[in-house]
Order: sequence, then structure tokens, then C-alpha cells
Amino acid sequence: MKLENHEMFNKLSTAIAKLQCDPPPKDVLPSTASLENARSKLQSHLLTQGIGLEESIRHLQEDLAPAFNASSRSPNYYGFVTGGVTPAAALADNLVTVYDQNVQVHLPNETIATDVEDRAISLLCELLDLAPEQWPHRIFTTGATSANILGLACAREYVIIEASAHRTDAENSVGQVGIVEAMRKAGIDEIQILTTVPHSSLSKAAGILGLGRASVKCLGRSDAPHKFDMQQLRKSLEQPGAASIVAVSASEVNTGLYATCGMEEMQELRKLCDMYGAWIHVDGAFGLFGRVLASPAYSSIIKACEGLELADSITGDAHKVLNVPYDCGFFLSRHRNIAERVFQNPNAAYLASGNGADPITSPLNVGLENSRRFRALPVYSTLVAYGKNGYRDMLERQINLARGIAKYMLESSEYELLPESSASVEDILGGIYIIVLFRAKDDELNKQLVNKIKATRKIYVSGTLWDGRPACRFAISNWMTDVERDLPVIEQVLQDVAQGKDSQRPT
Ligand SMILES: *Cc1c(COP(=O)(O)O)cnc(C)c1O
Repeated sequence: MKLENHEMFNKLSTAIAKLQCDPPPKDVLPSTASLENARSKLQSHLLTQGIGLEESIRHLQEDLAPAFNASSRSPNYYGFVTGGVTPAAALADNLVTVYDQNVQVHLPNETIATDVEDRAISLLCELLDLAPEQWPHRIFTTGATSANILGLACAREYVIIEASAHRTDAENSVGQVGIVEAMRKAGIDEIQILTTVPHSSLSKAAGILGLGRASVKCLGRSDAPHKFDMQQLRKSLEQPGAASIVAVSASEVNTGLYATCGMEEMQELRKLCDMYGAWIHVDGAFGLFGRVLASPAYSSIIKACEGLELADSITGDAHKVLNVPYDCGFFLSRHRNIAERVFQNPNAAYLASGNGADPITSPLNVGLENSRRFRALPVYSTLVAYGKNGYRDMLERQINLARGIAKYMLESSEYELLPESSASVEDILGGIYIIVLFRAKDDELNKQLVNKIKATRKIYVSGTLWDGRPACRFAISNWMTDVERDLPVIEQVLQDVAQGKDSQRPT
């Protein structure tokens, strides 16, 4: 195959790099016409003779890119928890592509890639006030879903070991003999996952791992479904013949509320779980970053993040609040000995990594993939560039915008903030993290609310169900967030939509 010369590559990559410096797109969604146009221009069959580099890049930029949504590139994209991409992360990601390191085996005499990955994840631990040495099993993943799979896989191995301990001295490993045999040997007939308002990916992980989606049991309080009903939890843990994994939702996607509040609650959970050989897994995909905060204005978030370090394992996302490109999440576990029982890549002498005494492990033996992207480099780059203060400031701006929107809802005659609460305004706002859930008071408007807001293409929100009725959700996670600039835009859109001045702009 004949590849184009370097001058051509330089010319085109400079044009693409310039995009990074362009102001954010005005519209958060492409017009219907752009979508149709792009779809009609998609190449329908593989060409025998390719169109060449210059023409293919033109095709991507001119035909396809106008039909991409603005997600990470616009501060006004508030759907899901998408994050953005900091400049330091974006530049590093280009290097990742150019150097294309395969971070699977630790080869200290050949590349520093595994050292960078290990350092990046320990810097991340420091950012989150977690002592790196207490999390010896740590690895970047493709996202929080895969980190949850890692968490439940480690938990499954651990609870089997615990249940087997008083029956047999022989090693009993799911990784080795499979779940049916391991459970039989351990004398248990059920592995249950006890949680409150879990993210959907937890059930997905349970399904993939042979525990079953039905093993996920929500034990929320009737007056506060995000919090554990401790009496029910104790009863479930006591159940004979069952081994348990307790999954803590550290900020839940619909409301941003945390399952625990303060060190004492986490200590109580820890004590209970130790009594019954249960594993504690924290899903803190975006909530974990609350640990960056320090000011008293955020005391209730700071308190909700206390004690999460008492967990056995933690899931976090880097492509959300850390603002690095997709795909990047991370997994932390205290149990180094479990890691290889679950993830070892056995009998592949050609992938061996020389030195057993080196503290850096080969990622292929402690995570899902063998070949892996160097996704650690953007994390390293952005943490080095902005430091703790940079991230604290970024998150404060996001929370302040969320609280500004929540305050608007509380004062509005058209909208209501969810969940409904009788607490004081100060307490309600103090509990807001980066998610704002709300609905229109008028039922007819409420049914169309998400679509009407999206149709303005000025801001993007996502829809959900709350108490069986449609509801709408802001998730604020972009590094560009600026309260003074963004709040008036949001208020104007909400006002226009409520007053019916919301017809889609001509495209
Ligand atoms: C987003 C999210 C996930 C899933 O994360 P992906 O990175 O999309 O795989 C899991 N748990 C929580 C709490 C989340 O917010």
C-alpha cells in the first residue's frame, strides 16, 4: 500500500489541531438536515481503490463532523455525565496515538509506559485522598462499567474464599474451577449483591459474571431509597447459604445523592461486612471526585465522601469529571492477592515480564484486556498540568452552576426541583453535587420537556423517570463551566420553553 508523504500528513494534522482552538460550537446538537446529509454521504461499500488521505480527511471533516453532537466540546451539553477534554489531556491523547504503546506487559528496560501508568494512577489516588500504597491492585479500565466488572469479579472470588475458609484448607477459586464448583465446595447456594439505587452497569456486570442480574437486591429505605435500610441489610447478610457483596452507590446518577453520610456510617458497614465475610465495592464513577473538595460550602458532599476508603474496591471514571477523552475509567482494590487469582493470563511464557521483585505488575495479569491503549498518559498529563487546585476549582465551578440551577428551580413557578424535600433551602442547595433533577409543574409541558429543551439546541439535558413520571436532568461535568456565562443561558432557555417561545430555530 502506498501511504502519503509526511508533508501531506503535517498539513492535514495542523488543520485538525486548529479545531481544538476553535470556540465551542454554538449548537449542542446537529440539525436534522446535517444528520440526513451526513448519513447520505457515508461510504456504502468498501472501495477497491481508496480515495486517499487528503480526500478521506475532507470527507470526515466536511461530510461527517457536522453531524456529531457537541458533547465534550461544549460547556452547554448537560446530558448524562459526559465530562469534557482538558487541553493537557487532548494533547497527550495525540501522543498516545502517535507512539501507540501497548501497555500490557511491564518491560522496564524497553519502555517507561507501565511506569507512567502506575504513576498516573497513584497521582489520581492522591487527588482523591486515597493512599496509593493501600490500593496495590489498581488499573485503568475502559470506563466505570468495566471497573464494576472488575469489582464484582474480585468480590466473587473473595466471598468464595471467605465461605470456604471454615470448611476446607484447600484453595477454592472461581478463577480456577468455575463458579458452580467453587460454590459447591464453599457450601453456598447464592451470591447476592446488596445495594441501593445502583447504576445499570452494576446489574450488567452481575449478568456477565454469572451472578445474574437478579442477584442485585435494592435495600433502600422507603423514605430515602438511596440510603441502606440497615435492619434489612443485616437480615440479608445473615441469610444462611448466601455470600454477599455490598455495593455502595457513591453519588447516584438521577439525583447525585450518596448512599452513605460520614465516617460512622461507613465504619458500621465495614464492621457488618467483616462479620459476614462480605466485600464492599464502591461505585464512585463521578461521586468519588467529591473528595477533592475542601471548602465548608461543600461540607455535606465532603461528609458523604468520608470513609469510602474503608471499601475493598472502588470504581471511578476518568472520562467524566477528570475530563480526559473516552475510554478511561479506573479500578482500585486493596487485595493484591485476589488480582491474579481472577485475572491471570496463564501459560503465556512469551508475555512474561522478567523481574518478580518489581512492584509494578504487568497489567495483563490484573485486568480484563491483554493489549491495551496507553490511556494513562492523558490522565498523567492533565494531573501534572492542573494539580489538585486546578481540579478543585473545576469541580467547584460545576457544583456552583448546579446549585445556581437548583436555586432557580426552587424559586420558579413553572418548575420543581426533585426529589421533593421539606428541608431548608440552604440544606437542599448544600446537598447538590453536579446533578440537578427536576420537572415542569404542568403535566403536558413535562411530557415534552426534554425534547423541547433539546430542540432549542442551545443546551442539552437528558430525560429519566422519577416516581413513575418523566423528569429531566442536568449533569455538569465540563472543565469549561463558567457560572456567570452559563447560568443566564440556561435560565433563558427554561423560561422560553415554559412560555412556549421554544420553536426550533431554522436550520
Ligand atoms: C457513568 C456511570 C457508570 C458507567 O460508566 P461508563 O464509564 O459509562 O462505563 C457506572 N456507574 C456510575 C455511578 C456512573 O455514573
